[in-house]
Amino acid sequence: MAEKAAAISAVRNVGNWVNGGIVDMTSERTMDVYESATGEVCAQVAMSNEADVDAAVAAAKGAFPAWSRTPVLKRARVMFKLKELIERDRGELAALITQEHGKVLHDADGSIQRGIEVVEFACGIPHLIKGEFNDQVGTGVDTYSMRQAVGVCAGITPFNFPAMVPLWMFPIAIACGNTFVLKPSEKDPSISLKWAELLKEAGLPDGVFNVVQGDHVAVNSILSDERIAAVSFVGSTPVAEHVYKTSSANGKRVQALGGAKNHLVVMPDADMEQAADALVGAGYGSAGERCMAISAIVTVGNAGDALLDKLLPKIDALKVGPGTDNNNDMGPLITAEHRDKVRSYIDLGEEEGASILVDGRKHACAESAGYFLGPTLFDNANAQMRVYQEEIFGPVLTMTRTENFEQAVRLINDHEYGNGTAIFTRDGDTARAFAAEIQVGMVGINVPIPVPLAFHSFGGWKRSLFGDMSIYGMEGVRFYTRLKTVTSRWPTGIRAGAEFSMPIMR
Ligand code: NAD
Repeated sequence: MAEKAAAISAVRNVGNWVNGGIVDMTSERTMDVYESATGEVCAQVAMSNEADVDAAVAAAKGAFPAWSRTPVLKRARVMFKLKELIERDRGELAALITQEHGKVLHDADGSIQRGIEVVEFACGIPHLIKGEFNDQVGTGVDTYSMRQAVGVCAGITPFNFPAMVPLWMFPIAIACGNTFVLKPSEKDPSISLKWAELLKEAGLPDGVFNVVQGDHVAVNSILSDERIAAVSFVGSTPVAEHVYKTSSANGKRVQALGGAKNHLVVMPDADMEQAADALVGAGYGSAGERCMAISAIVTVGNAGDALLDKLLPKIDALKVGPGTDNNNDMGPLITAEHRDKVRSYIDLGEEEGASILVDGRKHACAESAGYFLGPTLFDNANAQMRVYQEEIFGPVLTMTRTENFEQAVRLINDHEYGNGTAIFTRDGDTARAFAAEIQVGMVGINVPIPVPLAFHSFGGWKRSLFGDMSIYGMEGVRFYTRLKTVTSRWPTGIRAGAEFSMPIMR
């Protein structure tokens, strides 16, 4: 009995952060959060209702006038301090990700690093937000432009990168002078409160950053709230499309990043050892739960057999186990439900006639209490199979053999998703043609996961991104600001009398 009580008290309560602290909520609905390596409940997350979202948006709206007028250098200094604090608490943050998401600690730490890089980028906001000036555009007339904050911004984020994806959004939004409401994934929500605590410690005024926990109820309240000017969303394609359509119908700016099926082309002249290493890391790292994971191998000509010779032993050597052990390569999936969904895709691939070369259902890890599934590899998948067409979001790779480069490019260009892709080749002409012809937003040449660094921008094409702008980098600064252009003249430049024709330069 005493043991049970101790176990229950170890379960965290994860609530809403509004106006500088945790608040009482009107909703009494909660959801269990699981430690994915053991299947045990480690937290309970509150599920906001409309009134709870309303309170957070009201706080953000109230904080906007003062924060948007705060000198840009002071806003930048909060980011400098935030960077220091994230680095200080990095170990604790990574452990929280590993507990709830399941990815291996070194991978969790890597995702924090990629997030820190966006904070570093945001430290340069005084330079990034600078406008333009032209003197004497007409006689005695000057024109200048400036970028101003848009207002209250919302960020809605997925489970697979509970640290990195929010960090793609709020550092830039806040540095630009906006206030922010974050709605993290309900599956691994705890780290969202760490951002709130660290921002407060970094000197951010109360109300500038707020967190609402929950599911579609909270999301739909955000989408219909007239006080929210801009919505950044990252998640699956059906939800991204819903967020895009509803937000834009409600007059908001929106960038909605969706799902993916990322192809890696292996040409016959590729270094097969390198290609195989790239594939095990990019296909099975983080249990395939990355929007930039490679999930479809496309071999050209006779590359298939040469690749398999190198790839199969590497898959065999993969270490699957709890993310707390840094010797493991791959941890569990996020929930039992998701593991079962991925497993059902393996069943489907077999039914559809793909050849199963490695079967993750039979891996020893699949017997354990956590949400584990071993790495899976299908050969001879074709474009008509659902296992090829759909995003599985697990440790499952399909291999499709093509006769030539043109066929490989056509296969990728015909796919509904266009997030990332890569080609492995030693031939410069082939690589150059691939980069030019491929209908995908992020392209790697002998680089399997071409995630752009913080000073470039991240975004897919086709049904992997709804909206016009990619996320972070200069696209992020543009998304979170509005352009204002001022044309001015002073009395000595003003000629007498009214003008009724279109003003032109004389
Ligand atoms: P998801 O779409 O289920 O959830 C994303 C967010 O939307 C969560 O905060 C969730 O609470 C909310 N949500 C879920 N269902 C909703 C609904 N019906 N209405 C309104 N809101 C809803 O995605 P996920 O399972 O958390 O994350 C995995 C997906 O995210 C994959 O498809 C992956 O490719 C994608 N992803 C894309 C990128 C990218 O940059 N393109 C990055 C990471 C993840």
